Amino acid sequence: MSLSLIGKSISASATLKLNETAAILKAKGEPIIHLGGGEPKSKAPMDAIISAIALINSGEVRYTPADGIPALKQAIIRYTEDFYGRRVTPQHVIASSGAKQAIMVALQALVNPQEEVIFPAPYWVSYPEMVKLCGGVPVPVLPEDGSFYPSLRDIEQVVTSYTKAIIINSPNNPTGAMYSEEFIAEIVEFCEKRGIWLIMDDIYHRLIFDGKKPISCYKHAKDLTENSKLIVVNGASKQYAMTGFRIGWAVANKQLIAVMTNIQGHQTSGPSAVTQLAAVGALNGLQSSVESLRMTLENNRNVMIERLRAFDGIKVTKPDGTFYCFADFSHYNKNSTKLSQFLLDKVRVAVVPGVEFGMEGYVRLSTCGTIKDITEGIERIKWALDPNSPNELYIGQRKLVRDWL
Ligand code: PMP
Repeated sequence: MSLSLIGKSISASATLKLNETAAILKAKGEPIIHLGGGEPKSKAPMDAIISAIALINSGEVRYTPADGIPALKQAIIRYTEDFYGRRVTPQHVIASSGAKQAIMVALQALVNPQEEVIFPAPYWVSYPEMVKLCGGVPVPVLPEDGSFYPSLRDIEQVVTSYTKAIIINSPNNPTGAMYSEEFIAEIVEFCEKRGIWLIMDDIYHRLIFDGKKPISCYKHAKDLTENSKLIVVNGASKQYAMTGFRIGWAVANKQLIAVMTNIQGHQTSGPSAVTQLAAVGALNGLQSSVESLRMTLENNRNVMIERLRAFDGIKVTKPDGTFYCFADFSHYNKNSTKLSQFLLDKVRVAVVPGVEFGMEGYVRLSTCGTIKDITEGIERIKWALDPNSPNELYIGQRKLVRDWL
């Protein structure tokens, strides 16, 4: 079929596909444990619900400005001041349908065909595809020291005259690694010196553990004028457990925001009026749900790490934040797609293959579920992979017999 070259080059979102498969199996009554998910299971804050329902009840749900309603922009401005110590104006802000759209529109506003966008690997599954959608060239870079923490040297080595932007996602999906303040300072300074756009994907910045505090990239910026090439992306999805509301945003210089607004205006128009008001409710309302989610996730991380460390053959780095754990399963299978399919087929545990994030041999395990999901999920995985496990496993009434290994 005569489809576009770009269209044909884009692969399906591995994580969304997995969610679908897991949901279908679950609907059929299969005892699925979903350790592949990328969304908190808690409820959206009450302030978000009340605010959205008030608009729905009015029956007057209209188009909104392409860059978001003034009330949401004001809430984002306050958020930026609170968390980043930076005072901006409404012209520096765009609200989008998710951080995903904010990043996509930023890339569309920046990237010419052939230009390169660098991001550390492992990376969020959408970065390469988003860059390709712009006709650009994705340049993932693996830290040379084998860790999940890139150095400036790693990045510097892949910078060329075609480099247009760098995307930094800390804490990181899929590793949970939160990069050091020194690294953030270095990369901000480097991009300023070299005139490279820097997109900070901070979507997980409040979901961090061990007493860590969110880092503000602006603290390290020397150029805070309208020439600044720093773009900060954030959103309601993760911190407020509002993934389905689809509200994210970007803060950047006025000229870039104006171009992003033009693009978004033709793409989707402004985000849904209902969910923008929900985000206003969340941002301006009680913040206790964020801390409660953070504490739950920290506890879940501790349980996940403890279980994985007791699992011979698995190598794991303790995540600093997010709700992911990226573990090395290559001892059992170097092909993470086959391994993930095997775990879903045999013990009904859904995990995401590391290769989708640019790192083969690993899988991403999510800590979004309950402690029971985590412990039982890992127990099932262990039973399936460890040749020393007993021959049988019961899942509820169902008896599984190992016919492999
Ligand atoms: N960035 C990263 C690193 C993510 O993991 C996600 C969601 N999986 C997003 C951006 C997009 O979030 P949303 O569009 O739901 O705001």
